[in-house]
Amino acid sequence: MKIHEYQAKEVLRKFGVVTPRGIHCTSVEGAVKAAEELGGNFWVVKAQIHAGGRGKGGGVKLAKSLDEVRQHASDILGMQLITHQTGAEGQKVRNLLIEEGADIQHEYYVAALTDRATQKVAVMASSEGGMDIEEVAHNTPEKIIKVFVDPAAGLTDAQATELAKGIGIPDSSLAQAIDTLKKLYTCYMETDASLAEINPLIHEGNGTVKALDAKFNFDSNALYRHPEIVAYRDLDEEDADEIEASKFDLAYISLDGNIGCLVNGAGLAMATMDTIKLFGAEPANFLDVGGGATTEKVTEAFKIMLKNPKVKGILVNIFGGIMKCDTIAAGVVAAAREVNLSVPLVVRMKGTNEDLGKKILAESGLPIISADTMAEAATKIVAAVK
Ligand code: ADP
Ligand code: MG
Repeated sequence: MKIHEYQAKEVLRKFGVVTPRGIHCTSVEGAVKAAEELGGNFWVVKAQIHAGGRGKGGGVKLAKSLDEVRQHASDILGMQLITHQTGAEGQKVRNLLIEEGADIQHEYYVAALTDRATQKVAVMASSEGGMDIEEVAHNTPEKIIKVFVDPAAGLTDAQATELAKGIGIPDSSLAQAIDTLKKLYTCYMETDASLAEINPLIHEGNGTVKALDAKFNFDSNALYRHPEIVAYRDLDEEDADEIEASKFDLAYISLDGNIGCLVNGAGLAMATMDTIKLFGAEPANFLDVGGGATTEKVTEAFKIMLKNPKVKGILVNIFGGIMKCDTIAAGVVAAAREVNLSVPLVVRMKGTNEDLGKKILAESGLPIISADTMAEAATKIVAAVK
């Protein structure tokens, strides 16, 4: 689960990380009032969407007067903000953060994250903050320093010092930077985050170290023990089809292709998407209906896939283990009838009660294309949508 920057900064502040003072608002008037309340003579108007790269996309603007705050707020609110993380259609801006301007001397990158390759928690830092860390990782990987944390010891003073010195934090800010890194690690652990990122972390002219931007990914499997984080959820920022799917306990992810897939088991669903790609087409979604799919669940899954105008065909790939093939076949037939299926449907099923399942499909009178292997199923659905 993702949250907005203003919420991420609230979380960081709870753990003692220093951030600029800021106020969240949703209207132009609210933005001007926020700037008045913050005082000073230099503010930053920041679009709040669940994607990074807002600065480059025109979603972060400096203002030197209340009139400029008003101007930027009215430009940014309601805009369709396109960044390298939003996709081509962008994301509508409904929330703003008005923040006091910071006296930036240097921008650094720091993050705590789950490093899947080593199966450890890594804390990463770079002197090249503020821009795409992916670019730094690609072009100048030596500029990223990484330490791996022993969970029993936590991020040690020695490790935090290695990171802070390694990215060139000046002596006057060193103690606070080390403290910030340790707090970031604690925050990452205690909130069950999979990523806690500050980009940029800065030091100001007076030496103060501040988090100017913050991003979290939280492990959804751990949300049950963090109601305070669940309360930050913003459904406007999430894919409508994925929200609908989650109501029926379907694991569904929207993708860009034109072949809808309905599969039981996450591994088989991944393999099915790979097979579709191997045969020259693109999947429209990832969908795992799980082990206990009912007719109702299968019907909902069909409805969600068919709502996507890009879907030109559907591939059902079922392994009948605990779930029997005849149950899924009955579900597919009922669903196809209820939604008045209008695109080609290829069904491949293997396993328990396979013959019974195939019989149900064949006798349904529906134009269902049957397949025996994954290659055959992929070939048939790719041909059908061409
Ligand atoms: P994004 O990463 O989505 O582009 P950031 O919050 O990192 O958004 O903002 C982009 C840039 O804007 C930062 O790298 C920094 O240079 C500048 N910036 C952000 N917040 C402030 C602030 N409070 N004061 C001064 N400059 C800021
Ligand atoms: Mg940033």
